[in-house]
Amino acid sequence: MKNLADEIARSVDRILSRVPANVTVVAAAKGRSPEEIGSAIQAGITHIGHNYVQEAIPIIQALGGKATWHLIGHLQRNKISSALRVFDMIETIDSVRLAQAIERRCATLGKSMLALIEVNSGRESRKTGVLIEELDEFVEFIADLKHIRILGLMTMGPRFGDPEESRPYFRATRKAFERLSAKRLPNLSMSYLSMGMSNSYLVAIEEGANIVRIGTKIFGQPTEKHQELSTLGIKW
Ligand SMILES: *Cc1c(COP(=O)(O)O)cnc(C)c1O
Repeated sequence: MKNLADEIARSVDRILSRVPANVTVVAAAKGRSPEEIGSAIQAGITHIGHNYVQEAIPIIQALGGKATWHLIGHLQRNKISSALRVFDMIETIDSVRLAQAIERRCATLGKSMLALIEVNSGRESRKTGVLIEELDEFVEFIADLKHIRILGLMTMGPRFGDPEESRPYFRATRKAFERLSAKRLPNLSMSYLSMGMSNSYLVAIEEGANIVRIGTKIFGQPTEKHQELSTLGIKW
């Protein structure tokens, strides 16, 4: 375990040294153990992203106040209450129906939630997210929801391959971000642009990202053990 902690610490050092100070590194921690995530925090990571609410709950209960927690996977509506309880930000508002359901829950609980809109910049039908041409209508709708504070946009882009392949998707998302920023709607401030993963974070930063979500380059290649740890059968 010691060696693994050292390796994670070295990886975190390497990444933090390459990332400008205004960019937040979110460690993407799906399938990782509380010890691995704790090592990343120990090494200087302050924001952790998780894809799965059920899997994240015991980890957040164990490590809680030591980090800020981002939900970075699709939120199922039956998990909204749990997600609101443990996460600090939901990066994956991807439909009007989900936004409405979160709004209702927040109103009942008397709390408000920080959120990003997930943009489907790659137009892949399998992927969730709001299409760029639907964003204007979407933000006008969201601006009326009193308990959701939209702070920006998140996008995935292609996961593997040449990082340059991601650049057009990141650029298109950044353009939408700037356009929405100029709208000055209530409940909407374009402060965060979350894009870029292990293979593409430097390109994403060049294209304006100020949140990058990095898993493999912090924790190493996922092993079978990690896949088993994940209750929902994570697809890397
Ligand atoms: C897994 C994941 C990441 C990190 O991917 P890596 O390639 O391991 O860095 C980032 N964002 C989301 C939404 C993820 O699910």
